[in-house]
Amino acid sequence: MTDRPPPAVAAIAGYHAHVYFDAASRPQAAALRAEIERRFPVQMGRWWDRPIGPHPEPMYQVGFAADQFPHLLPWLMLNRGSLAILVHPSTGDDRADHADYPLWLGRVLPLRLAFFAELEAGRASIPSPEARE
Ligand code: ZN
Repeated sequence: MTDRPPPAVAAIAGYHAHVYFDAASRPQAAALRAEIERRFPVQMGRWWDRPIGPHPEPMYQVGFAADQFPHLLPWLMLNRGSLAILVHPSTGDDRADHADYPLWLGRVLPLRLAFFAELEAGRASIPSPEARE
């Protein structure tokens, strides 16, 4: 945790759900992705078939507005199967969003938080894990 007080809930501009998969679970992740797109107004990110940024396993990102949280989250709880999903707010502090404020469905993966320090120091760069199609 940082020493700063947490931001107000009203500072949450939206959320990301990061859906992790591997070669074996990729079809399951694809089916989940199609259902999410069919049911919810989301900003679907591209497939990353390798670890990217702080994400230690392949994943895709689902961006959604705060008002979708009470709709999408329960649906993900019931429909994620065995997939691990990271949900984090977007408060404007990428590191805190991933390190301090996340919620996990299923397995908790060890995020590569050193990425954020590397990014600040100019030793890491885009393509960002948050990149969209
Ligand atoms: Zn994210």
